[in-house]
Amino acid sequence: MHRDKDWNRFNGIGMTSARTRARMVARLREEGIRDETVLAAMNAVPRHIFVEESLASRAYEDTPLPIGHGQTISQPWVVARMTELARQGKPLRNVLEIGSGSGYQTAVLALVADRVYTVERIGALVAKARRHLRELNLTNVAIKHGDGSAAMNEPLQVDAIVVTAGAAVLPDALLAHLEIGGRMVAPVAVEGNHELQRLTVVERIANGFKEQTLEAVRFVPLLPGTA
Ligand code: SAH
Repeated sequence: MHRDKDWNRFNGIGMTSARTRARMVARLREEGIRDETVLAAMNAVPRHIFVEESLASRAYEDTPLPIGHGQTISQPWVVARMTELARQGKPLRNVLEIGSGSGYQTAVLALVADRVYTVERIGALVAKARRHLRELNLTNVAIKHGDGSAAMNEPLQVDAIVVTAGAAVLPDALLAHLEIGGRMVAPVAVEGNHELQRLTVVERIANGFKEQTLEAVRFVPLLPGTA
C-alpha cells in the first residue's frame, strides 16, 4: 500500500479514533464487503479529515455527509463496494475516478491502485480535495478540474473507472478509456427516477462489453460543464 507511515498522527480520540474506524470496518464486513484489501484501505484512511470539523464526530457513521457546494461525501459502504467492484480481487494499475468531491474515495483508491486520475467539475472542491490528499502525502494521485462525463482529450487507458455521481444514462463515452479486461463502475438512474440509481458494472471484453446491474444507491447527479 502507498501510505505515509505517519498516518497515526491523524487519529483523534473518541469518534475520530482508530478504534471507531475499526468498528466502521467491522460493520462493512458484516454488511457484505469481502475484499480484505479494500477493508484494509478503509481501515487506513482517516475519513474524518475529509469532512468539516463540525461533522468529524459523525465521519465513521455509515451515512453520506455534506461537503459544501450541494455535494456529499459518499457513505462508507458505497465507497467500499465500488472499490471492491473496481478491483474484482485483482491489483489495479491505473484508475480513473469521476467526481473527486472531498477526495475520500480517491484516497481509498490510491491505496489499492498504482495510480489514480480523478476529475471534479467544481473548482472549489478540487482545491479542497487536493489539500486533503496532500495532507496524507498521497503522491500517486493526479486531480483535474473538468467535466468528467465525456471522454477526455487524453490517451489515458485505465483498468478501472469509478464514477461517483449519479448518471441519467450510462456514461458510455468514458468506456473509450478502458483497457480490455477493465471495468467501469457507475451509478445509473433507474428509469424515470433521477434520485435513485443502480450500481452498474460494465466490463470491456475482447469483442465488446458486458453489463451487470447491482444494488440501488443514491448519488448526487453527474452534471455537465464546470463550476
Ligand atoms: N467521491 C466523492 C463523492 C463526491 S459527490 C467523495 O468521496 O467525497 C460527487 C461529486 O461528483 C461532486 O463533487 C460533484 O461535483 C462531482 N461531479 C458531478 N458531475 C461531474 C462531472 N461531470 N465531472 C466531474 N465531477 C462531477
